[in-house]
Amino acid sequence: MTSTRQTTAPTPKSRASTPAARGYAAQSATTPLAPFSFERRATGPRDVRMEILFCGVCHSDLHLARNEWGMTTYPIVPGHEIVGRVTEVGAEVKKFSPGDLAAVGCMVDSCRTCPDCKAGLEQYCQVGMTLTYNSPEKQTGQMTYGGYSDKIVVDQDFVLRISDKLDPAAVAPLLCAGITMYSPLRHWEVSAGDRVGIVGLGGLGHMGVKLAHALGAEVTLFTTSPDKAADGKRLGADQVVISKDQDQMAKQANRLDLIVDTVAASHDLGAYLSMLKRDGTLCLVGVPEQPHPPFHPVQIIMRRRSLSGSVIGGIKETQEMLDFCAQHGIVSDIELIPIQGINEAYDRMLKGDVRYRFVIDSGSLGAGA
Ligand code: NAP
Ligand code: ZN
Ligand code: ZN
Repeated sequence: MTSTRQTTAPTPKSRASTPAARGYAAQSATTPLAPFSFERRATGPRDVRMEILFCGVCHSDLHLARNEWGMTTYPIVPGHEIVGRVTEVGAEVKKFSPGDLAAVGCMVDSCRTCPDCKAGLEQYCQVGMTLTYNSPEKQTGQMTYGGYSDKIVVDQDFVLRISDKLDPAAVAPLLCAGITMYSPLRHWEVSAGDRVGIVGLGGLGHMGVKLAHALGAEVTLFTTSPDKAADGKRLGADQVVISKDQDQMAKQANRLDLIVDTVAASHDLGAYLSMLKRDGTLCLVGVPEQPHPPFHPVQIIMRRRSLSGSVIGGIKETQEMLDFCAQHGIVSDIELIPIQGINEAYDRMLKGDVRYRFVIDSGSLGAGA
């Protein structure tokens, strides 16, 4: 387990009532996450302040904590699958009141004026979205700190409503894993009878299987882990293909409409491209540290196949996904952990040993963190 040495952020020069916050931060690419004290901004007129109840653990948290994408500013407090209870709202906030359950995903702001923001696609903001952590915060100029912490203050336009009928801990992963899979499934208009492939049964992949199944698709799961096959079927896959088995892979040639690839490591895309029907699409959502090996253009030319990618989803679509999940009783399969177990959880995630999302019980931050 990690060192418990406490570090503290410099106090912002700002006004009164900036609430003290506790979290876990990485101080460098090679140090484990450890307790960290900082301050949240005071609740502005358009802000919602939440006590964080649960926060999912996304593979992106690990990539960023270890600076695998070369864009990390330290200290970093990861976490962008946040469910909490509203404790304070600004004077102009109409949509939320203290006591409400609420949620925050991967973004807390964007420019709001570019064509993409105006189209409700803030994740493609041309100026750049403000990420929930590791982005400069407009209001303070300091870096944003994420959900591995006890409270957060967010502009009301980037706060989501969640159903109180679902387990709030299992809802948390919908805020990144859920929307990242829902958005491409909707963009490529998946409906009953479509053949959808999901590559990788981790946090994103298991949500992809559940959502594609709920949309009526015939789902094929590709996994490197034979021991996940039974779970794949339980979660909604019609068939499971072990991706290390060449014979099983060859049988999939020319049969899928859409493949969503969640794998967090560099791998051969040609194998998946060859499984697409005419006009089919391979959509990448996994962001490995290293690029994928090249493939031959003939693999897309001959059947007019497309290779694409997708990043999370806009706020409107995230709300639509949360409402869809509430209607269909869809949540994530989770393993609840105390924050003190985060470094061990990262090690297990790297081995593909997560069934299927770790979620931090934020109450543990008060337990000697
Ligand atoms: P995860 O829980 O670790 O799942 C990744 C899965 O990929 C593993 O469970 C494993 O499934 C499979 N896999 C196959 N070969 C692997 C290898 N060599 N190393 C690691 N995994 C391998 O991760 P996640 O949270 O779902 O995230 C997946 C990727 O998506 C990450 O790169 C993350 O940064 C990225 N991401 C992108 C977006 C976006 O908006 N585009 C949003 C969130 C996350 P099997 O055991 O079934 O093979
Ligand atoms: Zn994520
Ligand atoms: Zn914009």
